[in-house]
Amino acid sequence: MNTNFERTEEFALGLDENDSMAHFRERFYLPKEGIYMDGNSLGLLSKDAEASVLRVIDEFKTMGINGWMEGKPAWFTLSEELGKKMAALVGAKEDEVVVTASATINLHNLIATFFKPTASRNKIVIDELNFPSDKYAIESQLLLHNLNPKEHLIIVKSRDGRTILKEDVAAAMTDEVSLVLLPSVLYRSGQLMDIEYLTKEAHRKGIMIGFDCCHSVGAIPHKLSEWGVDFASWCNYKYLNNGPGGSGALYVNEKHFDKIPGLCGWWGYDKNTQFDMNLDFAPAKGAGAWQISTVNLFSTAPLEGSLNIFMEAGIENIRKKSLHQTSYMMYLIDNLISEEPYNFIIGNPREADQRGGHIALEHQTEAVRINEALKKRGVIPDFRYPNVIRLAPIALYTSYQDIWKVVQHLKEIMDYKEYENFDSSRGTVA
Ligand SMILES: *Cc1c(COP(=O)(O)O)cnc(C)c1O
Repeated sequence: MNTNFERTEEFALGLDENDSMAHFRERFYLPKEGIYMDGNSLGLLSKDAEASVLRVIDEFKTMGINGWMEGKPAWFTLSEELGKKMAALVGAKEDEVVVTASATINLHNLIATFFKPTASRNKIVIDELNFPSDKYAIESQLLLHNLNPKEHLIIVKSRDGRTILKEDVAAAMTDEVSLVLLPSVLYRSGQLMDIEYLTKEAHRKGIMIGFDCCHSVGAIPHKLSEWGVDFASWCNYKYLNNGPGGSGALYVNEKHFDKIPGLCGWWGYDKNTQFDMNLDFAPAKGAGAWQISTVNLFSTAPLEGSLNIFMEAGIENIRKKSLHQTSYMMYLIDNLISEEPYNFIIGNPREADQRGGHIALEHQTEAVRINEALKKRGVIPDFRYPNVIRLAPIALYTSYQDIWKVVQHLKEIMDYKEYENFDSSRGTVA
């Protein structure tokens, strides 16, 4: 990876010219004006995803109920078919992944499956920087077992407010712990956890371990099967561009296919005999068993088109370009806006094997107002209270020139004190 960068716009244009993946940008609907830097929160619509939604709508229009079997692919098994396609993105076997429900709901089902407290092992480990929804889910699951979260939830602390040390997580894995749930990539700082190490540590101590991969799927290659991760769930509307609230996905390691899902429903029944309507639940042999109810077709259909782009581009290539783009952005930040009077701080880890797909740009005093000024200039960033502006160059549709321009905007906002035109109250959705 060539990281001999220069500061000029010509240099950025040169990088775009030599970028063998640049053509994917034409497959997406980019804002007519301005620069989209929020693909880590809500990925943009592709023409491919639009086409697969329109096809399903047309199937509904012309086939009615026959679409369940005659849709192409059949609606009845679409979740499994998309799971097979997606398996390559997470390094799983084809039947270990299914597209269904959404991230937090899937997490509930997986925790209900894998958290089986006993008299001696009855605690769950999470980290203090995790996405709040995951903690809410865990707490409510503890309460379902009549366990007090104050005693049974172990929260690993961050030493620097940005990252979690894997050794600290390992130290929290005592013989009272039954389950560990961690993010693959932390949503604020973008730290990429060492999934392989943590999985090995957990298993060495007889503990189940699962990962919330919302911030890594579609940005980073995974080897969930090889690493032996027990389970994982994620949403598909971030890097995978499945659309707002689009269906999520889950992974269950095949060694657990004999387990009965914690929350069962008829859609997890063995597909060959589901319509026998037997009152005794016979789960599918695979991750499909963890589906609960009928596939949300219109929220799932965009993923089909979207995944085609990922298959074409290759997740290894996407990761390579993403690392190059974030390296370039960090270079520009370091060289143009890190010193007085700019004072921006890079809050994400710098090492390639420790960072995800976004840059966590911090400003100690004016982050809220700088974020507003960026929006006024047509840049769409993502704000995390109180001081983090998340900027995500997306390998499939962000150009190097976009990155150059965003840093230029930041510099000018400070040069002209433009942020002073805004007040520091924040909106409802960052
Ligand atoms: C985005 C995200 C979620 C979202 O959960 P939904 O159930 O899809 O609303 C959950 N966890 C993490 C870590 C996320 O980044």
